Amino acid sequence: MWRGAAVRVLRSGGTGKPRAASGTATAELRRRLESELEDIRGAGTWKNERVITSRQGPHLRLAGGGAGILNFCANNYLGLSSHPEVIRAAVEALEKFGAGLSSVRFICGTQSIHKDLEEKIARFHQREDAILYASCFDANAGIFEALLTPEDAVLSDELNHASIIDGIRLCKANKYRYKHMDMQDLEAKLQDAQKHRLRLVATDGAFSMDGDIAPLREICQLAQKYDALVFIDECHATGFLGPNGRGTDELLGVMDKVTIINSTLGKALGGAAGGYTTGPKPLIDLLRQRSRPYLFSNSLPPAVVGCASKALDLLMESNAIAQSMAAKTQRFRSKMTAAGFTISGKDHPICPVMLGDARLAAVMAEDMLNRGIYVIGFSYPVVPKGKARIRVQISAVHSDEDIDRCVEAFTEVGQKHGALP
Ligand code: PLP
Repeated sequence: MWRGAAVRVLRSGGTGKPRAASGTATAELRRRLESELEDIRGAGTWKNERVITSRQGPHLRLAGGGAGILNFCANNYLGLSSHPEVIRAAVEALEKFGAGLSSVRFICGTQSIHKDLEEKIARFHQREDAILYASCFDANAGIFEALLTPEDAVLSDELNHASIIDGIRLCKANKYRYKHMDMQDLEAKLQDAQKHRLRLVATDGAFSMDGDIAPLREICQLAQKYDALVFIDECHATGFLGPNGRGTDELLGVMDKVTIINSTLGKALGGAAGGYTTGPKPLIDLLRQRSRPYLFSNSLPPAVVGCASKALDLLMESNAIAQSMAAKTQRFRSKMTAAGFTISGKDHPICPVMLGDARLAAVMAEDMLNRGIYVIGFSYPVVPKGKARIRVQISAVHSDEDIDRCVEAFTEVGQKHGALP
């Protein structure tokens, strides 16, 4: 009965066709949108979405018949997205706590599992407290506006993730953009920012397009010299960088110098969804009072909380998964370099195969898929002009044979298209 009613609302006149709004304004909108879409196609930057019909993992099935596709383009760094214990934890949370809260946290949306997960995240990062969001995009959208006023300043790496850029746009602090990982430029900007009440340096811990890691030791030294705070986005580091997978701050020995961490539950930590901020307790308390994406958006669903909670348990029990991912990364990077490719970044499972030419990156990625290897080409405007690449992401659940197959396919495709001698 419910289904029938919904179908009646969505279908027009029983014809089964979607109902199209009429009127001049709608017709004008349609014309504008179609012209904009044509521009995107014309610029060659149209993003197609491949449809997966299996679970996320190293081997995928794609709609249209592609089975046994080797997947090298997910942020599933630790392979926990389809880990049996993670899935079981989600099912148990779903059964015990229901599908969702139909509420924001402060009205009727906080369950014991939300509090437990926040406590676990803070313990994992060795911070005082943590606050959950529906995504790290939301965590980044919420923090700067809640924390900084027109009296303050924020200094941001020019290649920071879009969500940091958008979060900074929302706040009224004085804004400085320093050149990518350029400590001289950061120092000059910090000197200028001395006139403001509070200074916050904001950087990705690991940059997702290049697989490079922020020079956090130097950033923290400058922050100390100019009395600034340090914020890092650890989406591409949490769970696997550093001896115990705590992240870039652990890797570079500055856990006690970074004040605020934002990260995601949607990549290495089970891959479902969700994000968080962890740091000093008064900051987390303030975010609960002031942060708009937290105050005005639904609580994380219990199944999602269950996944992330189990992923953190697995990581706190042992660092074996993170170590295995590091060994696989090393295997891929060294074999590809020996084959003659240039791989950007260092020691990170994001391994951008640098090709330069946008068309070459696109045809090579397509040809890799013809050989059963799923990788993605990136070109301008996602990366700078002339720096097109195919981004490969390694996961702990890739076998050595998977990695070797990928390198062999790259070598064949690279020779075929002239990227290798
Ligand atoms: N920050 C960085 C560096 C990211 O790469 C991403 C996701 O792509 C995000 C934030 C947003 O994370 P989420 O998917 O949890 O919104």
